[in-house]
Amino acid sequence: MKPIPESSPLRKPIYLDYAATTPVAPEVAEAMMTCMTLTGNFANPASRSHVYGWQAEEAVEDARGQVAALLHADPREIVWTSGATEANNLALKGAAARYREEHPEGGHIIVSAIEHKAVLDPAQWLEQQGFQVTRLQPDEYGRIHSSTLRDALRDDTFLVSIMHVNNELGTVNDIAELGAICRTHTHGCLFHVDAAQSAGKLALDVRDQPVDLLSLSAHKMYGPKGVGALYIRRDPAVKLAAQIHGGGHERGYRSGTLATHQCVGMGKAAELAAAQISEEPARIATLRDQLWQGIANLPGVKLNGHPEARACGHLNVAFAGCDGEMLLLSLRDLAVSTGSACNSASIAPSYVLKAIGLDDDLAHASIRFSLGRYTTTEEVSFAVEHIRQVVKHLQKH
Ligand SMILES: *Cc1c(COP(=O)(O)O)cnc(C)c1O
Repeated sequence: MKPIPESSPLRKPIYLDYAATTPVAPEVAEAMMTCMTLTGNFANPASRSHVYGWQAEEAVEDARGQVAALLHADPREIVWTSGATEANNLALKGAAARYREEHPEGGHIIVSAIEHKAVLDPAQWLEQQGFQVTRLQPDEYGRIHSSTLRDALRDDTFLVSIMHVNNELGTVNDIAELGAICRTHTHGCLFHVDAAQSAGKLALDVRDQPVDLLSLSAHKMYGPKGVGALYIRRDPAVKLAAQIHGGGHERGYRSGTLATHQCVGMGKAAELAAAQISEEPARIATLRDQLWQGIANLPGVKLNGHPEARACGHLNVAFAGCDGEMLLLSLRDLAVSTGSACNSASIAPSYVLKAIGLDDDLAHASIRFSLGRYTTTEEVSFAVEHIRQVVKHLQKH
């Protein structure tokens, strides 16, 4: 895609915000479209009395199989949700409510301090309900060390929730190592992983990753918004208390009529993700590195996040000496985020960047570029020139 000339009213910025959401893949949109109208697969998947219902159920179950395959899980371990936010809520609140059934008091939960709000807020809510919560501090790159986790475990810890890839930094946690520590916990504690940012980018395999619960979001992997899934291990069986009641769908875990088109869309997105995982992340990482190499020698520029243990599309950069707001305003030919998109309604500096040691000014002067499936090398070249001009201009003033 060639950038539209400056003078054109059609000009839109180049999309470099794939970590906030991805466009729906055309193949996904096409599959979804077959599940809507009278001539399509429109019925209620829970209707057992006619062929319309059976066909809708079959489509939903095929899609469940596609999502399960991305994780090498059993389809019976997948529960549909409205997204990763709901999956995280079900994991944390469901595990806590279950624990409370057997333990009227106490109970300890460990999360990382730089989880997405969809983990931090449920954890805080549970704290208000009488659970104790420990928030693990990351290192300067945003990684949680296994020794930090080991030191925080207590006899009454029943749940650990640590994300696979941080949404702001792209930093990757070693979930195999962290999960192994949970497995050695004498009283047994569950390990939940928010994998919204890693699905389709990094290998997920629940056969050898010691994960009990894992959250996914379709719209971070070229599926539609409004659908996600929670993986719930069957062996050894993980028990959660349902958080949404009303009809007992999803084996009682999550009531509500399934949105066939949404499930089918997520299934297709998962199938595409699995099919391209051995080449697409490498291609995107090359583009991401092209972007970084193009701007790394600008004065005051610093990479936020881990230089190597980082998901393919993420590039979070601090521009020391630039005013954050001016920077974002000036980079008007690029669609990017400051900190996390979920925080951009408020002007508080990103809690993630602060947790890895940035001061308020540097956090404000940080930009998250995130690249994805449809990013081209021409777009990256354009972005490099644009960023260089803007930063040189701002640092002069
Ligand atoms: C986007 C995101 C979420 C929220 O997912 P939704 O499907 O939008 O609810 C949760 N966690 C992480 C790490 C994310 O990137």
